[in-house]
Amino acid sequence: MSDQAILTINAGSSSIKFSVYDPETMVETVNGQVDSLSPSRQTTMKIEFLETGKTIEENIDANDHALALQQVLRHGDAMFGGRLVAGVGHRVVHGGAIFDGPAVLTEDVFETLATFEPLAPLHQPHNLAAARAASATFPDAVQVACFDTAFHRTHPWVNDTFALPREWYDKGVRRYGFHGLSYDYITGVLAKTEPQLADGRVIVCHLGNGASMCAIRDEISVGSTMGFSALDGLPMGTRCGQLDPGVLLYLMAQEGMSAKEIETLLYKESGLKGLSGMSNDMRELEASDDPAAKQAIDYFVFRIRREIGGMASVLEGLDGIVFCGGIGENSRTIRKRVCENMEWLGIEIDDAKNQANERDIGAGRVRVMVIPTDEEIVIARAVKANLHLAESAQRPAA
Ligand code: ADP
Repeated sequence: MSDQAILTINAGSSSIKFSVYDPETMVETVNGQVDSLSPSRQTTMKIEFLETGKTIEENIDANDHALALQQVLRHGDAMFGGRLVAGVGHRVVHGGAIFDGPAVLTEDVFETLATFEPLAPLHQPHNLAAARAASATFPDAVQVACFDTAFHRTHPWVNDTFALPREWYDKGVRRYGFHGLSYDYITGVLAKTEPQLADGRVIVCHLGNGASMCAIRDEISVGSTMGFSALDGLPMGTRCGQLDPGVLLYLMAQEGMSAKEIETLLYKESGLKGLSGMSNDMRELEASDDPAAKQAIDYFVFRIRREIGGMASVLEGLDGIVFCGGIGENSRTIRKRVCENMEWLGIEIDDAKNQANERDIGAGRVRVMVIPTDEEIVIARAVKANLHLAESAQRPAA
């Protein structure tokens, strides 16, 4: 076991997820989460020690990310077991058009990333606040930002642009794509375990509370269902997915809705929750007899199938489909319905294997796979690659 530790931090709009890794073995030793961060109420913190099975669960007072992190680090002795935190990795949603890989967080990089806040106002400020807090707490550690957008910087121009006057593209109104850490992870697994497939044409369906799909050719992203924001493409737990921009004009001009009200509608009240009028949770919808819950699932499946057709055409064929994310990894029903009547594209699934949640569930020409994703390990690996930059690594041994 190493005398160093890597900490990864994933600061969402109202939660912080964190993990600790041993840089020598890259084994995750601690995993935890602070939920429902809100100025008005108490929040819950859970820390799991993966080697011993021990857990700490507490109600804490923390109304922002920095305070929440402070509360978590009160358990630092137990979390790091006396090891030195030599690197901290941060999930940062937006790397703009600039970053096509992880970036070491210098003051210049912080400043550049702050200029992307208007592009992702619900996430970027929280990501950066947590990174600032961690930099202050661990001044000798190397801080590395890993971006949701970076994996997609290989998109051809036609998939990177909207048909707006060109100046908008130059000003940053582009299709950035998101969930890149998940796609990076899945691509890495395929490259290692299925090299032939990895060199082919693959569609990865990341179906979680946030959901998107990525078209990958020769291990390179050529398309994503998400675009300028993480709203586009598939319907999600509470996000609308693809929407005719005319709807926005209508909501503003005819209904007098403000930008803030529309933001709440599109990010928090739409998707599975809005359509079902019940829940953003796929398990609840699947268990319900309510016709609206059934329609919400119908729409979710319909959009995935539509995108598979579109992506197969962009890829000029298809060799594999990978399901990941909470829904993709667990819902037999969604996987079965997505793949139904797709023989024309070479997609068939083996019902028994699908029910058993096996890794390979295909029965046709196209490989169909279920691969649990792991965004945290992608961050931890990026930190490991930069550990030599930690202040502690620069000092001569005592
Ligand atoms: P996030 O995007 O927040 O990381 P997850 O990847 O954890 O989300 O996915 C959450 C979604 O996965 C929820 O809609 C949840 O209902 C769904 N899910 C988890 N387990 C199952 C299951 N066994 N069957 C169907 N859906 C599931």
